[in-house]
Amino acid sequence: MALIVQKYGGSSVADAASIKRVAKRIVDTRRAGHDVVVAVSAMGDTTDELLDLAHEVAPIPAPRELDMLLSSGERISMALLAMAIHSMGFEARSFTGSQAGMITDSHHGKARIVDVTPVRLREALDEGAIVIVAGFQGFNRDTRDITTLGRGGSDTTAVALAAALEADVCEIYSDVDGIFTADPRVVPRARKLEVISSEEMLELAANGAKVLYIRAVEYARRHGVLIHARSTFSSAEGTLVVDEKRRGDLAAAFPQLKGDHMEEPVVAGVATDLSQAKITVVGVPDVPGKAAEIFKIVAKSGANVDMIVQNISAASTGRTDISFTLPKADATGALRALAAEQSEVGFESLVHDDQIGKLSVVGAGMRSNSGVSSTLFEALSEGGINIEMISTSEIRISVVLRGDDLAEAAQTVHTAFGLDGEVDATIYAGTGR
Ligand code: ASP
Ligand code: MG
Repeated sequence: MALIVQKYGGSSVADAASIKRVAKRIVDTRRAGHDVVVAVSAMGDTTDELLDLAHEVAPIPAPRELDMLLSSGERISMALLAMAIHSMGFEARSFTGSQAGMITDSHHGKARIVDVTPVRLREALDEGAIVIVAGFQGFNRDTRDITTLGRGGSDTTAVALAAALEADVCEIYSDVDGIFTADPRVVPRARKLEVISSEEMLELAANGAKVLYIRAVEYARRHGVLIHARSTFSSAEGTLVVDEKRRGDLAAAFPQLKGDHMEEPVVAGVATDLSQAKITVVGVPDVPGKAAEIFKIVAKSGANVDMIVQNISAASTGRTDISFTLPKADATGALRALAAEQSEVGFESLVHDDQIGKLSVVGAGMRSNSGVSSTLFEALSEGGINIEMISTSEIRISVVLRGDDLAEAAQTVHTAFGLDGEVDATIYAGTGR
């Protein structure tokens, strides 16, 4: 008997029929003799609809009230799910985030979990009940207010529950079969992975892969939680996201983890990201301190800078260009802040480009294999695709390209690294959540 945490995303509980299907899945797990704790998201697009509604009554809704409103979405799904389980003859009890002991800091809309005190959940489990917890929400002890964890936060709820309850596995259900070597909507020949290291998953999530939320992966890595990403719409095994250091210990329970993983491909996956923009600060005086000035202004605007490239300065002018990428949503604020300081910094102009795409190849095998960058650049060159920026980490190489080229580039690179599957990946209609 194990303790299993399961998380169901909005698309898995979109309507009454889906809720019943999820209830059956939960009951089957219980029937197999396991204790089950479920974190559930709001039904379908409920959170988006509530957000729209909030903006209809107020241009800038008060953060405290917005969290009150958004947290109600998960209350609906958790209660309905508990009812559906009851009607199948099983005991289930639903809990809000605060009842479940999900303690966060006080940042409305993007609260971080600081402690989990699942006293009531343990009691319910001890009494033989299936436990259902509202995802995405918590409680701050100082303000005594309800908080939410940021979009997609139910993944984090599930992982935090798994850590606090020392669950054997945290199963994250969505409408895709697991973690793929690329987004199957972009690269049809993407292959489902049986196993991926949490380190690689973190890089993929940080670079555009949407299948798991980065905060949840971070939390899992920090607390040694084994994630099993799988689909609500099939009973196939999904993908295990595992800390390499724990792989050996877990192999007894999960046969997928046995065997020689030294044979695995150098590149685990290709991530694509269309959510970034590029700003170029043109004609920056090439003297010490200018980059510091520029990025101080950008940081103060609240923008999260990703890649940075500085050109060699033209000897004749003593000026250079500095380009950087950032989330599209942050670009307007950064441009405004820079423009306000133009004469102070002494640059000539600003160029805003929101038609870029970012492609990243990720693989722990890069540490011990040379030639990954040359394979990548060769593939792009054969595809006639121009590279605008490059950045690397120990286990990742990213390039910025034209957004229009991104899908073709991803397919070409996926093939070049030998990642293509035999057949096209199954895509269940939906959002990937
Ligand atoms: N319902 C929230 C959202 O849509 C949380 C989640 O789905 O994980 O962002
Ligand atoms: Mg949702």
